[in-house]
Amino acid sequence: MLIWLALACKEPPDPVDSADSADTAPEVLRGALSFALPLAEPEAFDQVVGVDHDPEVHEGIEELLCTDYAGRGFPWCYDEHDGSDYLLEGSWDRMDAGSVAVLAAASGEVVDLDDGNYDRCHGDLGTGGVSCDGHPRRANYVIIEHAGGVRSRYWHLKTDSVAVTIGQQVACGEVLGLVGSSGNSSQPHLHFEVEGADGVVIDPYAGPWSQPETWWAEQNDPEALPGTTCVD
Ligand SMILES: [Zn+2]
Repeated sequence: MLIWLALACKEPPDPVDSADSADTAPEVLRGALSFALPLAEPEAFDQVVGVDHDPEVHEGIEELLCTDYAGRGFPWCYDEHDGSDYLLEGSWDRMDAGSVAVLAAASGEVVDLDDGNYDRCHGDLGTGGVSCDGHPRRANYVIIEHAGGVRSRYWHLKTDSVAVTIGQQVACGEVLGLVGSSGNSSQPHLHFEVEGADGVVIDPYAGPWSQPETWWAEQNDPEALPGTTCVD
């Protein structure tokens, strides 16, 4: 999902104290995987809305209270967001002009997908939520399972753009579909989400509010997108 309202954010909570938590924190699986940015044309994306590391759950307008991996608030994240949204520059015009390919972030097996759902869902000023113009609010998506049972999810794809099948082995960088706005989406973007074998959401970005090791092959600084180079 993507929230599209604008509001200032509260001060972030304290960062994770890695020295303190090292004894008790579950082991991070870093090392088995290194993700590449799952987008064919990184220059077509001008903003990332990331995973929320603030454990509090908010309601109403406070849903914009959040903390991303680098300690930033909205619009770098929003409450309870469990993935990274890459917003398509040029929005609907760019989507209609062919959009941008979504790529596998690492090699693995396609374990689930859906396609054929309406891809022009948008923010609805009347309700403050998302409208799919009377169509079911279902996303076109692909899920890949990687080494160690880690899964990556690619959400909101363009209608009839999914280019893989369930059970297919894909290489890092292989085309999965096109960026769209299907499902709980207010504008064309990719929601990229990573989940460990235990079902717990992993923010691939390392930072003082996230885990210390990045899951990106090349994370880069917070103002820039991760690199597109595949290493697996
Ligand atoms: Zn999202």
